[in-house]
Parts: sequence; structure tokens; C-alpha cells
Amino acid sequence: MAELADETSYVDHHKKKIAFIFSAMRHFNEELTNNGWRTEYLRYGEDSAVQSFDDLLEQALDKYRPREIIVTQANEYRVRKVFAGFSARHPGLLTEVIDDRFICSESEFIDWVAGRKQPRMEYFYRDMRRRTGLLMDGDQPIGGKWNYDADNRKTLAKDTKVVLPKRFQLDALTAEVIDTVRHAFCQNFGDIDSFWFGVKRDQANAAFEEFLQNALPLFGDYQDAMLSDEKFLFHSVVSHYLNVGLLDPLDICKAVEEQFHLGRVPLNAAEGFIRQIIGWREYVRGIYWWQMPDYVELNYFGHERPLPAFYWTGETKMNCLAKCIGQTKEEAYAHHIQRLMITGNFAMLAGVQPQQIHEWYLAVYADAFEWVELPNTLGMSQFADGGLLGSKPYASGGNYINKMSDYCNQCHYKIKEKVGETACPFNYLYWHFISRHADKLQSNGRLKFAFNTWEKMSVERREQINQSAEHFLSRLR
Ligand code: FAD
Ligand code: SF4
Repeated sequence: MAELADETSYVDHHKKKIAFIFSAMRHFNEELTNNGWRTEYLRYGEDSAVQSFDDLLEQALDKYRPREIIVTQANEYRVRKVFAGFSARHPGLLTEVIDDRFICSESEFIDWVAGRKQPRMEYFYRDMRRRTGLLMDGDQPIGGKWNYDADNRKTLAKDTKVVLPKRFQLDALTAEVIDTVRHAFCQNFGDIDSFWFGVKRDQANAAFEEFLQNALPLFGDYQDAMLSDEKFLFHSVVSHYLNVGLLDPLDICKAVEEQFHLGRVPLNAAEGFIRQIIGWREYVRGIYWWQMPDYVELNYFGHERPLPAFYWTGETKMNCLAKCIGQTKEEAYAHHIQRLMITGNFAMLAGVQPQQIHEWYLAVYADAFEWVELPNTLGMSQFADGGLLGSKPYASGGNYINKMSDYCNQCHYKIKEKVGETACPFNYLYWHFISRHADKLQSNGRLKFAFNTWEKMSVERREQINQSAEHFLSRLR
């Protein structure tokens, strides 16, 4: 096992992300050696002779002269290329085994997608329900409906008591890692103080158990809500544990199903959670491997604006963005709607180049790995694949943000104003986006209402909107 310099630098990862991964690796190594395995573990060192997977494999080859090297198939295209290169240099030596931490294998996904005109997550999800038997009554979904998303958009009442994710004390091993990260990655984005992630399997299990008991019952209801002073609401905050293998996706879905059968959580919560895992999580991975390597280059709208500098500082007068980026800096975490409808939505409306916003998401979240981040960013949030992943762009004006959050109450901009210096920028940027991409979007049935509204506006109103948008964009650095 090796803490490789190359893996720390393909993007400038959040400090907490690096600390989490290195600490989880060191703890896993400790667990293996305690159980009698012989391991070789290389700690991070800028001057280390082993900087990359290639170095590591070549060095191991020299040192151990193995008959066979067995690796789990890499989940990142970048790393899989390295293994392919090594195999080409040393034919017959490397055996890649399938990663069994996913429920749907790559080949099963390709079979599923074959012959479909338009793959859609909802139909994939239904097949995954049938296949796993989760929340099924024979061949029908329990409750009679496959999807309870419509029940999951409640706004939070002021006095709702939210539940914080389980926090863990630092042990000596994590403290050492944090020290290394603090010095070696001092220029990277993000805070390293108050590190509270679990780094061992029993800790990840305890964190999930706490979510099951306390937050899951309200997970469905408030899945889309956002509050300035509550970063986690009723979300599970387990994606980073899942993505490094400290939790197993099927196990946690079964645990959620059990809570439903015990009558402790409502169906909309259990179904909503299970859909995220066996639906979205597996689906985006399938799309990634089906579409790579070309997927990363897609730019349907031809957006070319550089990523605004405030994505790295949080210094903007738009309170929703300041809050979401601020919490990302502190915690290496933001929940789905913050990523999709605040930072993602703004980037798309402003015309930021999809590859730049992709690299930002890949850097700043503790759960960010390309197989899951890229389809979510390029496909779901930027519509850069022209509708392969989602059926319409997730674009909205300020009204949606105002409905789902309390951000607008404390903002410099006025949510009710549609044009002019103090109007909420999301309001005019939304219409500017819709109108400048009319050629690509007008035929989309799901945007019919938006285009009807735009067309009913007076020419003068449209001009005011476009002027406000262009003035704002000309000052965006
Ligand atoms: P919860 O809301 O509690 O959901 C439960 C679990 O469902 C998550 O832990 C996650 O494993 C899974 N899940 C939910 N939505 C998705 C989704 N759309 N795709 C895949 N899995 C999902 N997720 C990542 O794991 N890594 C990423 O790098 C990542 N980048 C994203 C970038 C953008 C632009 C967007 C819009 C979403 C991204 N997501 C990513 C998906 C989602 O936002 C996170 O999985 C979720 O916010 C993690 O927080 P949580 O564990 O509290 O999730
Ligand atoms: Fe964001 Fe507009 Fe609300 Fe300000 S007014 S918080 S910019 S949506």
C-alpha cells in the first residue's frame, strides 16, 4: 500500500480529503498486520522514489519477482490506463479482479443499456429493485409506487431539530496524518482543523447506525431543504465511507429496509435512501464506464467562462453561494441540492466551462472520485452531455432557492427583484441561459412552460433581463 504523490496532485484535493484517505489506509494497514498479514506500506513523502502506481508496480516487481500480481480493477479511468500500460509492458503478469463493492457490474450495465434509445435512471432503478428484492412485494414495489420523490420536497419548519453526523476523536495515527497534510498541502483548498471523520470500518458502521436511528425517519421529507446554520440536516454523510469501501452499499440498503419493516421509518424515507444508492450511485458509475474516455470532454452548450475565483474563497455577496462554498471549505461536504442547485446551477447559468467546474468538484469533496463525480457534474448538473444522463438541465432562478432554503433572508441581493443592480442574479441569469440556448432547449418538452413564459414577456422586459445578465457576467472574474 502506498500514499502516492501522483494521487494527491491530479487535482488540488481538499486537505480533509487527503487526510481522510491516508488515515483510512494507515488504519486498514494496521488492521491487516494485527490480523497476521504481511504488508508493505509506503508513507507519503515528496522525495519518495515511488510517486505513482507505475513506480509502485515496477518497484514491487523488482523486489519480489512475483509470478502474478492481483489488483482490484481500478474505478478511475486514469488509473486503469496505468494498469493497462503495465500489462502491455509485462504481458500475463497482472490479474485484475472485478470490484465487488458495486451491485451492478460494468458489463451488466452495458447489457442493460444496449438497444435502449434513451437510458433513464428510473427504469434502471426499477430493475435494480427487482434484482435486489429491496422493498419489493413479489414483482411489485411495496406501497404500489416505485418512487416517492414527490413527497420529499418539504421545506423545513423553523423549530425542526436536526441531527448531527457522528463525530470521532483523533487517535495518534490520524493526528500524524493531519500533521503531514498541514505541512505538505498547506496551499490546498480547505480547513484541516476539526477533523471528525471516522477512519475505520467500525467507526463508519457506528456513523451509519446513528443516521439509521436518528436522521433516517426525516431523510425523505427534507432531502431537498437547505439551511444556513445546518450543514447536514437529515442526510447520512456516508458517501466518503462508501466510496473508499468502509461501508458496503447493499448492506446499508438492507439495514434501511429492515428499519422500514420494523415500522421505524416511513416508506418515503426508506425508498428515497435506497434509490440514491442502488439507483443513482450505481447508475452514474454505469454511465461513466459506458461513456469514458470521451465523456470528460463534452461541452454541449459550448460554455467557455473560467471558474469564478470565489469558488475557492467563498467571497461573494450571493449568500447561497457564500454559504455552500464556506461549508465546503470547512467540511469537505455539501449535500446534493447544495451541489446541484447552488454551485452547479450557478456555474451552468453563468456559462462556466464544464471541465473547470468538474475539476473543482473533484477537488473539494471528501467523497469525490471521478467515476461518481464526473457524471454528476458534467451530466446532471451542467447538462454538458446534452441530455444523456438527465432529461432536462437542472436550471433554476432564485425562487426555487428561496423556497427550499433560508439563504435569501440574509443576502445582499433581493430575491423579489428580477432586474437591476440589486436583483438576485439567479433571476436574470436563468432567463439569459434559457434564451441564449433556445436553439438547443426549445424542443425539450420539459422546458415548454419556461419558453412560453419567456415568449410572453415584452421585448422591453427581455432587454432589461439580458442587460442585467450581461452587466453581471462582464464583472464576474
Ligand atoms: P445522502 O443524501 O444521505 O444520500 C445517501 C447516499 O446516496 C450518498 O451517500 C451517496 O452515496 C448516494 N447518492 C446520493 N445521490 C447520489 C448521486 N447523485 N450520485 C451518486 N450517489 C448518490 N457523490 C459522491 O459520492 N461523490 C462525488 O464526487 C459527488 N459529486 C457530485 C457532484 C455534483 C455536481 C452533484 C450534483 C452531486 C455529486 N454527488 C457526488 C452526489 C451527491 O451529492 C453526494 O453523494 C451526496 O451529497 C453525499 O452526501 P450524503 O452521504 O449525506 O448523501
Ligand atoms: Fe442566492 Fe439570490 Fe437568494 Fe441571494 S437572493 S441567496 S443570490 S438566490
